[in-house]
This record gives sequence, C-alpha cells and structure tokens, in this order.
Amino acid sequence: MRVTLSAIKADIGAIGGHTRPSDELIDTVKNHVANKARNLLIDYYIGYSGDDIHIIMTHTHGIENEKIHKLAWDAFKEGTEIAKEQGLYGAGQDLLKDAFSGNVKGMGPGVAEIEMEERPSEVFCIFAADKTEPGAFNLPLWRTFIDARSNTGLLINENLAAGVIFRLMDVMSGKVANLKMWEDKAELEAGLMYPGRYVVHSVMSSDGKEQIVSASTDRLHNIAGTYVGKDDPIAIVRTQKNFPATEEVGSAFNDPHFVAGNTRGSHHMPLMPVKINSAASLNYSIPLVCCLVFSMHNGKLTGPHDGFGTVDWDLQRMWAAERAMIMRKQGFIHPATLVPDELEYNKGYEARMAKLNEKFRDLEKSGKVTPKITSRSSNRKGGRSIIQEEKQYSGNHSSFNTKSKLKSKIESKLK
Ligand code: MG
Ligand code: MG
Repeated sequence: MRVTLSAIKADIGAIGGHTRPSDELIDTVKNHVANKARNLLIDYYIGYSGDDIHIIMTHTHGIENEKIHKLAWDAFKEGTEIAKEQGLYGAGQDLLKDAFSGNVKGMGPGVAEIEMEERPSEVFCIFAADKTEPGAFNLPLWRTFIDARSNTGLLINENLAAGVIFRLMDVMSGKVANLKMWEDKAELEAGLMYPGRYVVHSVMSSDGKEQIVSASTDRLHNIAGTYVGKDDPIAIVRTQKNFPATEEVGSAFNDPHFVAGNTRGSHHMPLMPVKINSAASLNYSIPLVCCLVFSMHNGKLTGPHDGFGTVDWDLQRMWAAERAMIMRKQGFIHPATLVPDELEYNKGYEARMAKLNEKFRDLEKSGKVTPKITSRSSNRKGGRSIIQEEKQYSGNHSSFNTKSKLKSKIESKLK
C-alpha cells in the first residue's frame, strides 16, 4: 500500500514564555484535526516538543498535498485563537502569512513528509526538536549513515554498506545537492560542518528508490525577509530491515552535541534528548529533542513509544545539563553566543555595534590623548612599577623634595 506520512509543526503560543503549549490549545488543535480527518486521513497523532505542536498524519494523498497542508494550517489557526484568548506568549508566531496558499511550506510551519510503499512492518522515528535549527540533525544523521563507530550496521548490513544518497540543502539559496556515498563523503562532510547553512534535507537509499529520511528545512528568516525565530526542526527517519535499526538512529543522539538556538535563539548549547511532550527548560532553554517511535500498518499508527523515555537516557540528560552549564559559564563570549549573522536578535546587536563603532579612532590619534600627569592620583595609571616607585619615595621622609623627585622620576619612565 502506498502511504504518505506528513509531520507538520508550528509554535503558535506557549505558557509564560517559550515553554509549552497550554492543554486547551492542544485540545483545540486535536479537535480540529479529529473533525476534519474523515475522508482525508487514515490516522494521526498530535503532541508537542517544547513550545512546538506537531501534527503527524498518514494518508494517501502524496506529499505537499493542499488538503492535508490546509488541515494542519487551519488547526494551527484555530489554536492561535485560543492562544490569543489565553494571552499565551508568541500566539501564532510561526504563522507568517494571513491566508493559506496551497502549501504550508514557506508559510512558517515546518514540514517533513515521505510517500512510501509501506513495508509489511513499517517502522519509523520522528525527531521533534525545540530551541534549535534544522542543522541540529547534521551530526546525528552523519553518525547514523556515515560513522561506523556509531553504527556497526554500516559494516554488516549490505544495504547500509552500499551507502546512501544525502540530499543537502543550502538554506540560503534553497538549492539541494545530491551526494552519493561513498564517493561524495568529503563534500558532504564539508557541508555538514556548517549546520547554520547546510542541512540534511533528506536521505535516499543507495539506488535512489526509497526515501529513508525527510527533515524540515525551512528557515524562518528567509521566509519573512528578516529573522523571526529559530525554525525548530522535525524529521522522519524510517528504520529496520534495509534501513538503520531504530536503536542505531536513536543512539546517534546519545552524546549531546552543541547546536545553535536556546534563549533568544542566539547561543550554543547541547541538544538534550527528552521524553515526549516535554516542556522547554527554564535553564536558559537548553535545546531539546524527543523521539516518537511508531509502527504503521495500512497507514494505521501504533504508538508513539517514547524513544528517549527509558531510564538510561537520564544519563544523557545529565550530560546535556552539565555541558549546558559549562557553556553558560562562558556567558556572552563566543562560542557561547552565535556569530553575529546568526543571532536572532541581530538588530539589537547591530545597534550596540553602531554605538561602539562611533567610538573607534585611529591608533595614532588615540596616542595623542595619553593622559598627562597632573596629580599624584593620576600617576597610578602608569602601572605597578610606578606605584612601587611611588611607595619607595613616599617612604623617604628625610627627603625635603620628595614630591618633585618622584614626579621627575615618573616622567622619565614615561618617556
Ligand atoms: Mg515560542
Ligand atoms: Mg520552539
């Protein structure tokens, strides 16, 4: 059976800041989808990751289908009304356009979709992240499909050993490069190196016939013409059989790596694997990712099983919290903060820099304003050696002309 899996997400408001949607908001989205699902969807699931709500749908209408996308858009619109009524923070923040125009891509919500010939036992993971950007998946996907140290399946599974095709998007141009493993490995890695610009759009099987991964790649600042928020990503990864094992994909998140995002979308912090339907942390909004594990048959979903819900993942959460504190101790100094172009609050930074730039002068000119010695206190600006000299002379009470001697001594030092 041919089935399409669509995962569409948006931040349409959260309680008291960028934490989590309210129960009433989630119920509104659920009710809308439930009411419209008849004759359109086979099955669906709705949950959240931090302040982002995801709608996961199965159907037979293919990717980028207008009716499916409109269903999600309208559900988010209705949810936004509740968010406004409740005074939630950022109500409707990811709905950048007023009217739906055939496809939510480019309108704010993030989309990951795969149309597939359903396998007898179709299984997949959905990774929903918050407080970060699509490039957050670069390293885990590299570990899954390239790094045998992370994934022995790359050696002992014929299909994985044959290599996959990475489709890498340049988020500034919107263009996609097809990179065939293993011959294009170095070029792939050169791109993955810069997650703020080059992100995994999708992964295909070696023969290009089967899609294994789809990730949301919309960049909100490109859509709106100015930076309006980090575009928290969502990705579908099909697992088992000819694809990576579920635990080979899941474990690629077991060493929380540093990603862009968190508070004001302007810092680097580790990506913490969390339980499904977790709120964002008040500890400077540590980036988070949850893993929803599903089985599917004839488009009917069983799950989600909570991929990062087992007790062992508490260790990774602890590591992430520790690494977050290490980075936070660095405050606002790079690499704790992002490079200026990536700052979500770039305008504020530019305003500070404009004022700072007004104060810069050529070094020669600033040399002319070297303070002259006019008093004993100003001598202290001359450094430790001068202060020592000063002590030495001020201790000499027998000297009739201590002050003038001191002054001439210091002046000769300054020349
Ligand atoms: Mg938000
Ligand atoms: Mg978010």
